Amino acid sequence: MGFTGYENKDAGSWSTAKDTYNSFGNNRGKSAFFNDRGNSSRGRFEHGGFGGGGGNSRWVEEPRDDGDWSKPTPRNERLEHELFSGSNTGINFEKYDDIPVEATGQNCPRHIESFQDVDMGEIVMGNIALSRYTRPTPVQKYAIPIVKSKRDLMACAQTGSGKTAAFLLPILSQIYTDGPGEALNAAKASGQVSNGKYGRRKQYPISLVLAPTRELALQIYDEARKFSYRSRVRPCVVYGGADIGQQIRDLERGCHLLVATPGRLVDMMERGKIGLDHCKYLVLDEADRMLDMGFEPQIRRIVEQDTMPHKGVRQTMMFSATFPKEIQILARDFLEEYIFLAVGRVGSTSENITQKVVWVEESDKRSFLLDLLSATGKDSLTLVFVETKKGADALEDFLYREGYACTSIHGDRSQRDREEALNQFRSGKCPILVATAVAARGLDISNVKHVINFDLPSDIEEYVHRIGRTGRVGNLGLATSFFNDKNGNITKDLLDILVEAKQEVPSWLESLAYEHQHKSSNRGRSKRFSGGFGARDYRQTAAGGNTGGFGGRGGRNQTGHGGTRGFGGGGFGNFYTSDGYGGNYSHSQVDWWGN
Ligand code: ADP
Ligand code: MG
Repeated sequence: MGFTGYENKDAGSWSTAKDTYNSFGNNRGKSAFFNDRGNSSRGRFEHGGFGGGGGNSRWVEEPRDDGDWSKPTPRNERLEHELFSGSNTGINFEKYDDIPVEATGQNCPRHIESFQDVDMGEIVMGNIALSRYTRPTPVQKYAIPIVKSKRDLMACAQTGSGKTAAFLLPILSQIYTDGPGEALNAAKASGQVSNGKYGRRKQYPISLVLAPTRELALQIYDEARKFSYRSRVRPCVVYGGADIGQQIRDLERGCHLLVATPGRLVDMMERGKIGLDHCKYLVLDEADRMLDMGFEPQIRRIVEQDTMPHKGVRQTMMFSATFPKEIQILARDFLEEYIFLAVGRVGSTSENITQKVVWVEESDKRSFLLDLLSATGKDSLTLVFVETKKGADALEDFLYREGYACTSIHGDRSQRDREEALNQFRSGKCPILVATAVAARGLDISNVKHVINFDLPSDIEEYVHRIGRTGRVGNLGLATSFFNDKNGNITKDLLDILVEAKQEVPSWLESLAYEHQHKSSNRGRSKRFSGGFGARDYRQTAAGGNTGGFGGRGGRNQTGHGGTRGFGGGGFGNFYTSDGYGGNYSHSQVDWWGN
């Protein structure tokens, strides 16, 4: 493929690699390494690395801080296979014109059309080719030149549109061009460096990426490993719930790019394991979540109350699919002369996701879910969101008793169990994952065909992120939400989202939203109003006079499921199978990027 110039450099020095291996082996007490490398590789094979889901072994590139950072290190076939064999294929990138893009701020650099339009250097271009990325996604077209020209950035782009690479590629390319610079000098000055290698105590990452959940941190770390293949950059990840000792040992081997959840990072800083004095690039992924009430104090602690370079000195980048106005205002505290980039409307959903909202009474939810699951293709993954951890456990048990291979992920499960659950889901061993909001943001799992909101969330941002687990990078997805009296607070926002994404809107939802608005604008009148038109009545209206209702098993067959068949048309099962949501559906893609 198109990464010529890469292969020929294999010749790398075996003796150097061997020396490196030996010195590492000696330093390491109970050695986790063994000599199992390809001839020309520089690195080591490591057992039981954390985050690998227990017992995994992985190849670890040996970082060397001396030498020319812009030149690729020797190729390693085993590592290459490990990093890139799961890379996506067959994404349909045609011309992309019609998603509105807003880029505001002074002297905004021009966007690119292809990866070749900007000089990202040999290493990055090689890894892009290995990842089989043929062209940049919309957010990448704009964000890459902005980041390359050292500007602060607040970027909003839809779920699944490639935001991770939009920051990793330009940051890494910049690090390869500039070399370790001050970070290495600082380490040297403090007497922690010998023979051009980082010492064992404190690490000074050049780039820090913060993420809200452990699983997301791991996923970003995995992407960073891909894009730092054949470079001298060593990425690391730290997050709570896992053995800190192991993470410290990993850091001690060198850390140039750190992916972290805030709590564990603060811990590492307080233990003197990480210094942010030379952090040139700061990224907040899922930035609106990172700056909301739960995380904001920790972010300020990391960014403002420690040794991190001030804004304007460091480069700060924020990414999310949603960005409520009040959080945008708060975010300005951390940015200097930034560019605001919105690809599509902020908080909008991808039109690749077919969104269905169905009225289901609380007591009918389980049987309704069973119907949905039985109509879902066997080889596709279904993600079911519930509101509480208890609810997740209960639903998992229920589905298990009904004979479904399912698992669950939520905050009360151990980190090990969480990772295990995610792996089983990803691999299709358990094609149903019951989850709380911990799985709502950022997770990129291919083949999730159906997201079911068993319980709807109370805010619309959460909804956008949840359904964004499907319909990623040009694939089609389906999202079904169970709605009832309890979900009044999301009615209006949900309606707006459906209309904007050109989805079928149930008429009862429209009526409810109308009522809701009325209620808030005129309390006295709304009382009378809602007395006369309870939610129940809307539901019947929605069924187009078909009083079978949406709740009971019997009714469903008559009422249909909205969508193309309309109410009272084909049965529920029909909708999901013969309309293409069963079989063919799983392979179809739309040209998200393009026309
Ligand atoms: P987001 O953060 O916007 O939700 P991700 O960064 O998780 O999206 O990317 C979603 C998927 O798209 C990932 O599997 C990633 O490898 C893939 N991807 C990213 N950029 C490209 C590209 N230019 N071409 C093909 N696939 C891409
Ligand atoms: Mg993301």
